[in-house]
Amino acid sequence: MQSVRGHAWILVATIMLSLVAVCNFAAEVKVPTMEALPDEYEKRLENRNDVFMALKSELSRESLFSVIDGLNRWEPKSKITVAFDEGEAEFHKKIESVAKIWQTAANVELDFVNPKTKKYRRWSKTDKNYSADVRITLRSGANWSLIGKLSSDKEMAGPGEASMGLDAFDLVLPQDWESTVLHEFGHVLGFDHEHKNTNASCETEFRWEDDENGKGIYSRLGAPGGWSKVKIDDNLRKIKNPRGFIISPHDPNSIMNYAMYPWMFKKAEKSPCYVLRGNKLSDGDRKGAADAYPTNQHQINQLRNQRLSNLSSLMKMSGMSEELKIFYAKQQKTLQIEQPNEQLATPP
Ligand SMILES: [Zn+2]
Repeated sequence: MQSVRGHAWILVATIMLSLVAVCNFAAEVKVPTMEALPDEYEKRLENRNDVFMALKSELSRESLFSVIDGLNRWEPKSKITVAFDEGEAEFHKKIESVAKIWQTAANVELDFVNPKTKKYRRWSKTDKNYSADVRITLRSGANWSLIGKLSSDKEMAGPGEASMGLDAFDLVLPQDWESTVLHEFGHVLGFDHEHKNTNASCETEFRWEDDENGKGIYSRLGAPGGWSKVKIDDNLRKIKNPRGFIISPHDPNSIMNYAMYPWMFKKAEKSPCYVLRGNKLSDGDRKGAADAYPTNQHQINQLRNQRLSNLSSLMKMSGMSEELKIFYAKQQKTLQIEQPNEQLATPP
């Protein structure tokens, strides 16, 4: 069951528009959340997608998607640093403890504490350099996350910009906060949404148009002030070109499921795509994380060699911005420095 794991994580936008309602009483009311990238980030991703679609003519599709995979998944054993813009240590510790559950499946380290100050990392809008790979804002009015390394890709999110939103979690922790934190950190590791899995039937399950039961998805999500048709399609329809993705069977237990409303489905609650997301990683999530971030050195070497090869192909192509070229060249250099010569050889 795991989510759609990708060799094309870069192409995939996601994020959450949190519809958490807070009533006048102490207890919060949980409302299903619909995720979508903030508009400015969505636009940047669309621009990026255009660049890659143009490059496609110069690379085989397989190569293209492998390249994309290589560029957005972190290296196994990576230390991924995380910073907050607001909140107190006690709150940060809660988020850290849940996010780190991913470490029990993936060979990465999510690092929240500045080793010098021994305090939780902070970032601010005035930062000129990245304070952390993942920059959480508690004030963006939504829950969302950029996917994988996009968080420190200057064209996607600069040092003074968030790469994840957890809306006012420090003020009122929603009932499903653990589920949301795990979900967003799944995006950090490169996971996409389960309903976009090409093995799922969600696209045919959705009530796209108005019918006898009332307004459909386009009318309701696309109401004034809401999502554009492109945004709705990007967020809800299947991955457009699944070649190069590693896609497992539809996993209704994956933490990467999107919490959706019954009205969105022709069969309402009876739809197989209507799932109430739990608050733990499914077996499939764990398997996906272990495959993408293995502990076995042979597998690590394979992933590294594949990435170096793809970066090398990518650097020969035209059409990329200088900024993006620098971003990829830096990755290439780091990998070459870190990689002992014998690991460059194709493993037996
Ligand atoms: Zn999501």
